[in-house]
Amino acid sequence: MSPVSATYWGISGYIIFWVFFVVAAGLFVQRTWFLFRLIRLGKPENRFDHMGQRINNMVREVVTQRCSLKSVTRKDLAGFGHAFLFWGFSLFFLSYIIFIGLAGGFGLASIILGGTFERVFSSILDIAGLFVTIAIVWAAIRRYIVRPARLQMSAEAGIIMGMVFGLMLLHFLGDGFGLASAGVTTSWPPISGAIARLLSGSSISNLTLKHVYYSLWWLHYFLILSFAVYVPRSKHMHILASIFNEIFIPLGQKVVIEPIPVEEQENFGISKIQDFTWKDLLDLYSCAVCGRCHASCPAQLTGKTLSPREVIHNLKEHLLEAGSALLTPQPVTAKDGQPKEMLGGVVTEPEIWACTTCGACQEVCPVGIEHVRKIIGFRRNLTMSQSKMPESAQLMLRNMQSRGNPWAGVQSMRLRGDWTSGLDLKILADGDTTDTLFWVGCTGALVERNVKATLAMAKVFKAAGVDFAVLGDAETCCGDPARRAGYDFQFQVMAEQNIEMFKSHGIKQIITSCPHCLNTIKNEYPQYGGEFKVVHYTEFIADLIKQDKIKLSNELNSTLTFHDPCYLGRYNHIYQEPRGILQSIPNAKLTEMERSKSSSFCCGGGGGLMWIEEQPGTTKISHMRLEDALKTGADTVVTACPYCLQMFEESIEHKGIQSKLKALDLVEIVEAAMKQS
Ligand code: SF4
Ligand code: SF4
Repeated sequence: MSPVSATYWGISGYIIFWVFFVVAAGLFVQRTWFLFRLIRLGKPENRFDHMGQRINNMVREVVTQRCSLKSVTRKDLAGFGHAFLFWGFSLFFLSYIIFIGLAGGFGLASIILGGTFERVFSSILDIAGLFVTIAIVWAAIRRYIVRPARLQMSAEAGIIMGMVFGLMLLHFLGDGFGLASAGVTTSWPPISGAIARLLSGSSISNLTLKHVYYSLWWLHYFLILSFAVYVPRSKHMHILASIFNEIFIPLGQKVVIEPIPVEEQENFGISKIQDFTWKDLLDLYSCAVCGRCHASCPAQLTGKTLSPREVIHNLKEHLLEAGSALLTPQPVTAKDGQPKEMLGGVVTEPEIWACTTCGACQEVCPVGIEHVRKIIGFRRNLTMSQSKMPESAQLMLRNMQSRGNPWAGVQSMRLRGDWTSGLDLKILADGDTTDTLFWVGCTGALVERNVKATLAMAKVFKAAGVDFAVLGDAETCCGDPARRAGYDFQFQVMAEQNIEMFKSHGIKQIITSCPHCLNTIKNEYPQYGGEFKVVHYTEFIADLIKQDKIKLSNELNSTLTFHDPCYLGRYNHIYQEPRGILQSIPNAKLTEMERSKSSSFCCGGGGGLMWIEEQPGTTKISHMRLEDALKTGADTVVTACPYCLQMFEESIEHKGIQSKLKALDLVEIVEAAMKQS
């Protein structure tokens, strides 16, 4: 007999069951409706395309728990615990519907309970419950004893862990007393069966066993309802929100920066909650405050004020605090009566300007939160609506406007290094056409150290018989530094001019030396109608080696470590090509840094930070990255990005370790390996 079919103080168990259910369901719906209305404050955004693919992605990430397991490392196994919690708890959720909802509330106990189905399902639940209990105890030990830096102490986490632990305990005890009171002694289910056997052998009367069973059953039921009411009111709203967030994550690039319709706006970027899109607001609900982004962020790890975890968490708190006021016409006010500013208050300018846009936060985030576009949105507001930006960034933008590049050099200096001498380079003039353009990039053309790598590249292409041309002093910046700094006006002007120029020369394929140019021209120019085949030189050279057009026959006798530039690896998934090239050089030993490939650590130069001073009193990001390289014992740190090369050169000099470690662009190594071959 189900405890629901009994009568308590003259009241039918069914009435008690459904009254409490309706109250809990009402509270759940009230809260989720409030959260839904807050999301609707966001701007529209179309994330409803390819719904089949989106749902498929969500199932792959959530059901298989790939989202949690992808972050498992030897040092951090917490993803396993989360996966077991998810799988175990999903089984329990199903059991609540069947055994508590259908068997109890709908009076179907005689059909569902007492047979093979119940015994098999309960046995599975016992095993799942054991895993969930172990995962919860492990989580509590980690959070309250081990205390890794990425986790925050919070009462909410303790409450949820206590609730889940209580649910497991009540499952084992409730089933144990239930079986014992029914006189069933069985080995399956294993844990509650063992408890039942223990109780049956004791002197406790059958009536007492039954009363305790009924009490535990109701306690279990009330705890489940409390859990459902509490979850959307706590940080654990991510349990529900993240499932939807996984559906609406970007389908292609993880980091997507959308164009702004300049002529349609008065207030650019993001300065208040309503400037976010609904997807950005769903992101905020989805944050599990797991701190993986915090532990991967180069700005945070080098002591800057930025923590992506705190940015997202604080924005969520702000959204919830300001929620009621946002849904009414009254102005939002803080407790002290002053208008509450989101930009400058909830998220500060030093935080916003500390981001290198490296994408490490998005790479590790288990629930698909998009941090970078929010930060760029804040920068857009600061630069375009408020004319506020660090002085050095202002200079960079002025240079872009007046000289066409972010550096101090004038356009005519782009031919420095004597391109034409002995190389017979084709420099495009008005009316000339070419299929393949070597896009040199501002840093590769204007910064002395990088010019060497550019010349090496041109020599390698010539030696391989590649038919290509360059733009010479007609080449301008691709616009990347302006876009990352939030000054999209400038970016759009440059993108449109460049696209026109590419079209006027009939260009079909563009080879870039810089991963930032690659990302911008390949992934962002299509937003303005510029669809070209764009490849990074590492892809191009790897292909030339495959075609036997390049032979790397010179011995190198060197131990190399390859630094994955963020915009080459995380943004464009080019990991294997540079490694393949280095591995094909005789006597070149390749060793990996601990943080490599998708977990690579930024050099500190992206996101416009090449031109923005790092926060005083903090470690330079490139210095920290260089430590990673030194730990490998390599004599050369190799990269394939002019920013990274510059950052490493500067750090090596700063540390005075020129005799121990040198920095080279990969193409310089290719050139050396080709010589005399
Ligand atoms: S993009 Fe990089 S620097 Fe910016 S918040 Fe994310 S991890 Fe930190
Ligand atoms: S943003 Fe993502 S990685 Fe960062 S704390 Fe939230 S859930 Fe974790």
